[in-house]
Amino acid sequence: MKPDSPDTKALRDIDRAHHLHPFSDWHALSEHGGRIVSRAEHVYIFDSDGKRMLDGMSGLWCCNLGYSQRAIKDAIAAQLDALPYYNNFFQCSNQPAAELAAKLVQVTPAQFNHVFFTNSGSEANDTNLRLVQRYHDLLGKPHKRWIISRRNAYHGSTIAAASLGGMNAMHQQSRGLDYVAHINQPHWFEEGGDENPDDFGRRVARELEAKIEELGEENVAAFIAEPVQGAGGVIIPPDSYWPEIRRICTERDILLIMDEVICGFGRTGNWFGCETYDLQPDLLTFAKAVTNGYMPLGGVMVADKLADVLLGGGGEFAHGLTYSGHPVAAAAGLATLDILCEQDTIARAARSLAPLLQERLRELADHPIVGEVRGHGLFAAVELVRDKGSRERLAPDAAAAVFCRNSANELGLMVRQTGDAMIMAPPLVCEPGEIEDLVRMLAQALDVTGRHYGVA
Ligand SMILES: *Cc1c(COP(=O)(O)O)cnc(C)c1O
Repeated sequence: MKPDSPDTKALRDIDRAHHLHPFSDWHALSEHGGRIVSRAEHVYIFDSDGKRMLDGMSGLWCCNLGYSQRAIKDAIAAQLDALPYYNNFFQCSNQPAAELAAKLVQVTPAQFNHVFFTNSGSEANDTNLRLVQRYHDLLGKPHKRWIISRRNAYHGSTIAAASLGGMNAMHQQSRGLDYVAHINQPHWFEEGGDENPDDFGRRVARELEAKIEELGEENVAAFIAEPVQGAGGVIIPPDSYWPEIRRICTERDILLIMDEVICGFGRTGNWFGCETYDLQPDLLTFAKAVTNGYMPLGGVMVADKLADVLLGGGGEFAHGLTYSGHPVAAAAGLATLDILCEQDTIARAARSLAPLLQERLRELADHPIVGEVRGHGLFAAVELVRDKGSRERLAPDAAAAVFCRNSANELGLMVRQTGDAMIMAPPLVCEPGEIEDLVRMLAQALDVTGRHYGVA
């Protein structure tokens, strides 16, 4: 479509008149309308004005293999022909769901031999709560109810998932569950003050121990965390953090739930973030990249420790979704995992692209408005500051990062802003030249931002 062609204008008009967008300012959107994305190719998206943008976010952290995976599209089409839908309730199953379950068991850590399917990460985290509660009930410990999570975590947007998450804006608009407690996040750059990163990491990890003491170990069911907080700002914890959490979880009778909705399927350089940080979760949440974003699918991997109890003859698990194990979504998942396995995509990206991205970004650390560059694999954040020493920000309310994000978008790069950080998660199938383009456009956006805020 041409710029301002009648089609684009008409689309924008009906969109802003009738479509309530997720996580958007509805008033602003109804006045100005949004960007209509019309097509995508490889790692580029094209809007209805014909503008091409390098997708530095893999969609919403999901299109890890980009937009042109023929085999996934064909698998979806073939499955629609064979069996477009049947449910998995009442002792039924279907071929893709069964095969995807087995495949997920193959690619996840050894303790996982069972999976429960949902349509999304939020529903998967709701399911975690149901599983954890059922597990403790069957063990005769119904008082084990409390779930400990972290401030600024993102676990989805159903009532339960928002409650598990630690996003202030979401908590302000939603009355949460009364059995979720939050401890501080391991975000040294934002909250570490004068403490050195490792002392800070150990100290915030020990808040888990203190919270368990406060609530009573006999009342605490689980701790939930993302290996790296994604939406919160690609927060890479100090090296001391995860070993300390691991120690606490080993010493205490609480379950560890790893929300791998972003980290899973290669984002941090391994198949799962828990491998990057050497953690042994009891439950693992997945969604997003499991189908490369082409179909909605999520789920929970259940470790043997729980499965042994849950499958032990305790009767029906009274939970399910109409589309749990949807055959078409499962077919998309299978085709995605086939590509990841056969083409060795994750290891190849970790060997070549990740070091390139991380090294090039670290060269930006000298930029006058860059306070920190952090990342793992194809996952990174760049913190914007006015003063590197004091970490003073450029402007209140993250305005500089919003400005920088808009500048990057203008230049043809899709990246996101969270707080005062620019965050990115490019597809694992980028060409090296595309990673160079990403960093070059980001550097230009930083230049423009620095000039705008009077920092040379
Ligand atoms: C996106 C996300 C979710 C929620 O997934 P939806 O499919 O949007 O419900 C949960 N956890 C994490 C870490 C996420 O990034």
